[in-house]
Amino acid sequence: ALVVRHRMRCSGKWARAMAILREFEEKCGTPSGKLRQVADAMTVEMHAGLASEGGSKLKMLISYVDNLPTGDEKGLFYALDLGGTNFRVLRVVLGGKDDRVVKKEFEEVSIPPHLMTGSSDALFDYIAEALAKFVAKEGEGLHPSPGQQRELGFTFSFPVRQTSIASGNLIKWTKGFSIEDTVGQDVVGELTKAMERVGLDMRVAALVNDTIGTLAGGRYCNQDVIAAVILGTGTNAAYVERAQAIPKWHGLLPKSGEMVINMEWGNFRSSHLPLTEYDQALDVESLNPGEQIFEKIISGMYLGEIVRRVLLRMAQEADFFGDVVPPKLEIPFILRTPHMSAMHHDTSSDLKVVGSKLKDILEISNTSLKMRKAIVNLCDIVATRGARLSAAGIVGIIKKLGRDTVRDGEKQKSVIALDGGLFEHYTKFRISMESTLKELLGEEVSESIVVEHSNDGSGIGAALLAASHSQYLEVAEA
Ligand code: BGC
Ligand code: MG
Repeated sequence: ALVVRHRMRCSGKWARAMAILREFEEKCGTPSGKLRQVADAMTVEMHAGLASEGGSKLKMLISYVDNLPTGDEKGLFYALDLGGTNFRVLRVVLGGKDDRVVKKEFEEVSIPPHLMTGSSDALFDYIAEALAKFVAKEGEGLHPSPGQQRELGFTFSFPVRQTSIASGNLIKWTKGFSIEDTVGQDVVGELTKAMERVGLDMRVAALVNDTIGTLAGGRYCNQDVIAAVILGTGTNAAYVERAQAIPKWHGLLPKSGEMVINMEWGNFRSSHLPLTEYDQALDVESLNPGEQIFEKIISGMYLGEIVRRVLLRMAQEADFFGDVVPPKLEIPFILRTPHMSAMHHDTSSDLKVVGSKLKDILEISNTSLKMRKAIVNLCDIVATRGARLSAAGIVGIIKKLGRDTVRDGEKQKSVIALDGGLFEHYTKFRISMESTLKELLGEEVSESIVVEHSNDGSGIGAALLAASHSQYLEVAEA
């Protein structure tokens, strides 16, 4: 009788754990109809954000990029890419139409976590020092012409209100950054002052968001690129808009008639988004409560953390891992999205990758196959929701551009440049995102919409934009 009662208790707990999982799954649901509402809401907010400053949660920031690379760009340029846990410094030699990127050298430097929440000067000094060291390794014959200042394209992957192509004030930090004294400051000024402090003579020729860099880098390789999306630590999109469709732009109409817009879609929010209590709790406890809601259910910084939160609930309320709640499971952000991805992609029949991740990261051992299967299922629910919502966002852009229908059999190709770790490394996420695009757009339209991986577009793109905004341009062309 004792054995029977014990089994009953266990199976009661298992049922309770599964009930928690099933309820979460239900709240995460993204049927086509719901995704279409999300896409439509995205289109509506795009209009509102373009109409007036502060008109929408979507900031629809003007990038001051009204010409995208043509291939004619020439010369030696530097790029600095800051946006996640690493930053990169690049040296690029552009050779014009025939030679293209003649040389590309780069170094990646990780940012010590304390600098992500410290002071502005400390962060920018650290970056400027790394840049100066990199510049010092410039090879023979690679330096700029005598008397010429080195020029830099600065990819800064946070929302910035630009005041020109090479200046702009930080609106807020996102992702893991939170440095109060940078907010409201011109980030080019911050970098320039730091470069002066470390004795580096360099001019920032272009300040760009990573989406803008990716768009520029993508266009350099493929003239049909009309938008760029980042699915990485954070998420965002940029696209080419008709200048006349931007009521809040009071400047001169650019010759091209176009203006690239940094949507900052990570801050999108809509009543149609499938948000759960776990997302709400994550948001409240985050560095930026109430902000970046779309980003918090899509991007790499958060997916693993959502999984952790659901598992913790299953442990606390249904003894999923036994009588005691595994202490490591209580540590925020301990389960990273790459760990989640590794578990999600485990193809072994006994799910041994899941077992080893649980052991290595959460110090949980002795899990049953049934438990490991439930964990894979949880990863799938979280990744699928994120992937399908990002597809809905892309459909929102395609609708805004009127490219969601095929007109008179004419097939205009639209290429979207994608980059970021989620897209690049989380295969199931990417496949789900791509198949959802097809599902939402239909066979015929999908044929003309191409998603392309723009490998490292943002670094090259910034160098290209530095080239087209070089102070030596007229001199060089004359
Ligand atoms: C930032 C964007 C950036 C995106 C991808 C977001 O958190 O707000 O500016 O483009 O991350 O890096
Ligand atoms: Mg990046």
